[in-house]
Amino acid sequence: MKWNVRTLFTGEREELSIQDTLDFSGAEWSGGYPLAKPVIVSGTVTGAGGIVVLRCTVEYTFEGSCDRCLARFSRGGMLETEHLLILSEADSDDVDAVVVGDSYQLDLDEVIQADLWLEMPMKSLCKPDCKGLCHRCGADLNAGPCGCAEKEIDPRLEALKQLLQ
Ligand SMILES: [Zn+2]
Ligand SMILES: [Zn+2]
Repeated sequence: MKWNVRTLFTGEREELSIQDTLDFSGAEWSGGYPLAKPVIVSGTVTGAGGIVVLRCTVEYTFEGSCDRCLARFSRGGMLETEHLLILSEADSDDVDAVVVGDSYQLDLDEVIQADLWLEMPMKSLCKPDCKGLCHRCGADLNAGPCGCAEKEIDPRLEALKQLLQ
C-alpha cells in the first residue's frame, strides 16, 4: 500500500500511524517463494522540523526447504526497521533513506520488501544442527543413523588388523 506523508513534511501532522498487511507471496528469492504468508507491518511515520522518519515492526514467516535434508519448514521472524524519508536523493547521504518525491507517496511494499530480502538467511536450514541426508543411501539422518557409517571400513585399519593377526 502507498501512504501519503505530505502532512508530516509540512508540519500539519506530527505522527501518522501505519498498519498494513503486505502480500509478497509472488516474490521470488533464491528460486523459491519464502514469503508466502501475509507480512504484518505496524509502526509510525513521525515528522519534526522537516525530519520525517518511518519506524515499524514487521512480522513475517520464512518458508523454505532445508539445504541439507530437503524438508519443507517455516519459521516466524520479526524485524524492527527505521528509515529517514526524504523528498529527493540530494536531501541526505543516508543509504537507508527512502525518497518519496514530489508526490509524497511512501511505497511501503517496496521499502519492506527490500528490508526483508536483507533478512533472508544465507543458508536455509530446518534447524541449525540438521544432520542432513546420508550421501550413500539418502536416509534422513535426523531420524537416526542409517548404518552406512558402520559398514564403512577404513582400509588403513583393515591393513593393520591383518598385520596383527
Ligand atoms: Zn534439515
Ligand atoms: Zn546411509
